Amino acid sequence: MKFSTLAQYYEKLEATSKRLELVDILSKLFKEAKAEEIGKICYLIQGRVAPFFEATEIGMAESMVASAIAKAFGEDKDKVTKSYRSLGNMGLAAQKLSQGSHQKGGQAPFKVHPSTPSASLRTSSLRASSSKLSVSEVFDELLKIAKFTGKGTVEQKVSTLSELLKKLDPVSVKHVANIPLGTLRLGIGDPTVLDALSLAKKGDKSLRPVLEDAYNKTSDLGYVAETYFKLQEGGLKNIKLVVGKPIRPALAERLPSAEEAVKRLGGEFAAEPKFDGFRVQVHLSPSIKSEVIRGSTLKDLARATSGVEPRLEHVKLFSRNLENTTHAFPDIVEGVKREVGAKSAILEGEAIAYNPTTSEFLPFQETTKRRRKYQVEEMVKKLPLVLFVFDLLYLNGKDITEKPYRERRKLLTGIVPKEGKVVRLAEERTLKGAGEITKFFNEAVSEGLEGLMLKKLDSPYVAGGRGFHWIKFKRSQAGELTDTVDCVILGVFSGKGKRTEFGVGGLLVGVYEKKRDEFVTISRIGTGLTDEEFRQVNELAKKLKVSHKPSRVNSKIEPTFWVEPKEVLEIYADEITRSPIHTAGADKDGIGYALRFPRLVKFRGKDKRAEDATTVEEVEKMYKQQYKKK
Ligand code: AMP
Repeated sequence: MKFSTLAQYYEKLEATSKRLELVDILSKLFKEAKAEEIGKICYLIQGRVAPFFEATEIGMAESMVASAIAKAFGEDKDKVTKSYRSLGNMGLAAQKLSQGSHQKGGQAPFKVHPSTPSASLRTSSLRASSSKLSVSEVFDELLKIAKFTGKGTVEQKVSTLSELLKKLDPVSVKHVANIPLGTLRLGIGDPTVLDALSLAKKGDKSLRPVLEDAYNKTSDLGYVAETYFKLQEGGLKNIKLVVGKPIRPALAERLPSAEEAVKRLGGEFAAEPKFDGFRVQVHLSPSIKSEVIRGSTLKDLARATSGVEPRLEHVKLFSRNLENTTHAFPDIVEGVKREVGAKSAILEGEAIAYNPTTSEFLPFQETTKRRRKYQVEEMVKKLPLVLFVFDLLYLNGKDITEKPYRERRKLLTGIVPKEGKVVRLAEERTLKGAGEITKFFNEAVSEGLEGLMLKKLDSPYVAGGRGFHWIKFKRSQAGELTDTVDCVILGVFSGKGKRTEFGVGGLLVGVYEKKRDEFVTISRIGTGLTDEEFRQVNELAKKLKVSHKPSRVNSKIEPTFWVEPKEVLEIYADEITRSPIHTAGADKDGIGYALRFPRLVKFRGKDKRAEDATTVEEVEKMYKQQYKKK
């Protein structure tokens, strides 16, 4: 496919604010694509050159992109920057210049610097195709830019991008210039892509559950799409876990009482403490090494998409929202290498700051200080972490997620020490009846833990799934609501009075409507934030501000400005009520759900993506449960 064709699709996607239309346009795009390019297209429509969990960023700031545009079209850099400021978007500024230069006589003037890597681009086969670059050629050039490291990187990136821009038509220029800056903002969520893939090949959305299953196991849209296009439905069904690709984590349900939990879990069940730290998925392999081979067996595909940069890391860590956090936790990496007795494994645990001398768990506010990019070593000494491992998904070359909890736990006990310095087995007891739950719960809470996780003994590990295999019991359940609600910031109301100084007076927040891949509003939050929190919200909001309502947001309320749905807040409320103002779970009369007296508990930070927020389905359940409790 020509990149210019893809650029026309970008235009159409950008112009719609309806999700069904997004699915329709995407499916037409996929129908036109070849199997070898479908993976790349999946990354490109999300403005990336790798799956989101890969740290592969193009790594160009505004000033560098402006230099590349200036160089491509023989213009002054200051002029590019000025045009960018007045148009508000780098892509638009680039498109305008590109149009001008095309009108002047087709090709923009360019000077040859034989020493720059981009010179090879001109002498390569790309030259012949001139402005008819294919999607794969543009993708490969962008990937090349992402991979430059070391001395001269800035110059190399700028000249490679400028050479690429020269070879594109104005519409393509617009979108390619936005990719390095992350300002493509087509607002396409992963479920939308899955629906479109099904529609493209099957003619309806019936294959979405199979695609979703494969996606839950690998979190890699490009890999799933390519497998589907090359190996059909059968290939998708055979997808197994791949070391190096994060698995979407299994989630827990909530119930109003211990008695209800016993009804669900059966006679005997497992109970583990619920640690209030952050979830870590550990991938351990003899050597995680990527090779860019494009094959047509599942193994080849897995290898080809297991990372674009060569990685010799032996251990990789992923957060709850599947970001690669390996570099933030060198102590865990070392601990895993030293203390885990397996050749290859995928483990899950909760990392928590822990004082080994007093055997005390530190509060979440302390643990979360470890989530940082800088001064990592200093923090390792100040706040050492212990990883309490609670599940094993893959062992010595085999995906074991289908095995029952009881067997997985047994295998886990064989490879993780009970009292390791850094890696430890999470405590586990087999319980019977509500009385035993209450007893263990009180013990856990008195030790400073958050509560309990109850687990069904014969349950498989369900990637990305919330089933009654795991049930959480939290301290906060002592209140009226059975749990806190994770909400996404959707809009901002400007401040009045004292709050003007913070720039933010209140927030419009929402939850996730999974079936429609949409964010729906549930509350306005204004009170209950400290001055520091207001400042923090203001910083976040400035970064995420967008000019119009994002296509995946469904709201009756108009805030002062909209933000890209990205940041998740944990909210505690007294009650869930019905309300005509909000769109969450709205019935045919337009009555939805709302939170009564919402208060901020914490910023979930990198812990959760917007799509990991509480869903409307869960809100509905919580609404019903609150009355059962009373
Ligand atoms: P919540 O975020 O409140 O929905 O609770 C689920 C989270 O609890 C998981 O994502 C884990 O990070 C955390 N957690 C703590 N202890 C455990 C445990 N023993 N088993 C599973 N998850 C746990």
